Amino acid sequence: MPNADTRSKTAWGTDVNAMTDEDREIIDTIERWAERELRPIARKFDHADEYPTEIVAQMKELGLFGATIAPEYGGLGLGASTYAQIVMKISAVWMAPVGIFNSHLIMAACVQRHGTAEQKNHWLPKFATGELRGGIGLTEPNAGTDLQSIRTVARRDADGYVIDGSKTWITNGVHGDVFAILTKTDPEAQPRHKGMSLFLCDKGPGFTAAKKLKKLGYKSIDSAELVFESHRVGADRLIGAVEGRGFQQAVGGLELGRINVAARGAGIAAGALHAAVRYAQERHTFGKPIAQHQAIQLKLADMATRVEAAKLLIEQAARKYDTGERCDLEAGMAKLFASEAGVENSLEAMRIFGGYSYSTDFDVERYYRDAPLMCIGEGTNEMQRIIIARQLLERNPL
Ligand SMILES: Cc1cc2nc3c(=O)[nH]c(=O)nc-3n(C[C@H](O)[C@H](O)[C@H](O)COP(=O)(O)OP(=O)(O)OC[C@H]3O[C@@H](n4cnc5c(N)ncnc54)[C@H](O)[C@@H]3O)c2cc1C
Repeated sequence: MPNADTRSKTAWGTDVNAMTDEDREIIDTIERWAERELRPIARKFDHADEYPTEIVAQMKELGLFGATIAPEYGGLGLGASTYAQIVMKISAVWMAPVGIFNSHLIMAACVQRHGTAEQKNHWLPKFATGELRGGIGLTEPNAGTDLQSIRTVARRDADGYVIDGSKTWITNGVHGDVFAILTKTDPEAQPRHKGMSLFLCDKGPGFTAAKKLKKLGYKSIDSAELVFESHRVGADRLIGAVEGRGFQQAVGGLELGRINVAARGAGIAAGALHAAVRYAQERHTFGKPIAQHQAIQLKLADMATRVEAAKLLIEQAARKYDTGERCDLEAGMAKLFASEAGVENSLEAMRIFGGYSYSTDFDVERYYRDAPLMCIGEGTNEMQRIIIARQLLERNPL
């Protein structure tokens, strides 16, 4: 384990208290790994938009594909607080690899929370090792925020279900094996969510990744369109074995997903701050480091304050999540604030780097391209504000 001096010099800064020694050791291991393995290759892989196969193998070894899966199924069983810290550490260096295990863990959480005993015993050990990897397929070309408008249909027949439709923007779509796919099992149901069901689908006849999508940032990780044409699955693939629960199962996983996106935003904000603090002391204008100019100091102060505030909101949401309490307000606030902090800090870092910010030889342009995704994923920030306000009113009736 690193000593306190080493820890205080990291991009992320001080750690939150109340962690066990084991948690701290895991977080420190991940931080060292990110600095050693990710930092040297991030720029090259990002610019080439190349899938980091060797990094995936290392993430398997580190147990990241089972980070939040219960130990009885072979996972590390980490709580949301520790998991969020890991995500921040990695994102402060390079955010994209987080998506490779996080989307996978959202799928695993759906099985762990809602699956039958057979489904848990069959799938979770394979997910925990990374032997089978995947993600979650909710969004369609015509339905993102309004998930109840999806058109992918699963029709029951004597042998199971037949799935037809398409999904888009699905993380790990090309390299993943298995996906939790949201469908309509009763397209006429009212309210609409009562006709929705979640299935575990693995690639094969009738289920293909049609196209890897080109993106502004979040490179190296595959976002893809998935196409279902008379794809057959057995009834044992219906998560929880009861139709009509898919919407709740899918959105129930989003609280953890939001804490995770918040942690990614905070990580980017911290990474941008770290780069800016260093650069501001190296770069001289008018006979002194730019860090000595008050205009730059004001930026650094605001950036650092955003990072610390984001950390506290994430910790609050994660602790509440770990107690099993409803935390959509807290997770929403953390996601909203931390993702905006990522955008604001990366933009401020661009300003501090001046012309060099525009160079692909520095990392800040990557932070700047990666950050806006955090304002969109796991519920847009417009929706987070609506969720926060609704909860606020519900918790404070007249
Ligand atoms: C790189 C990337 C990876 C992704 N990975 C996945 C994945 O793995 N799995 C998956 O299922 N999806 C994934 N998504 C999809 C993502 O979750 C959606 O893009 C997101 O939910 C928003 O949906 P939309 O793009 O259809 O926007 P829309 O729903 O069309 O929204 C457009 C705008 O309208 C606003 N808006 C919509 N409804 C309201 C309202 N009621 N009130 C106020 N404003 C509103 C939104 O906030 C937004 O500003 C990914 C997206 C990207 C870009």
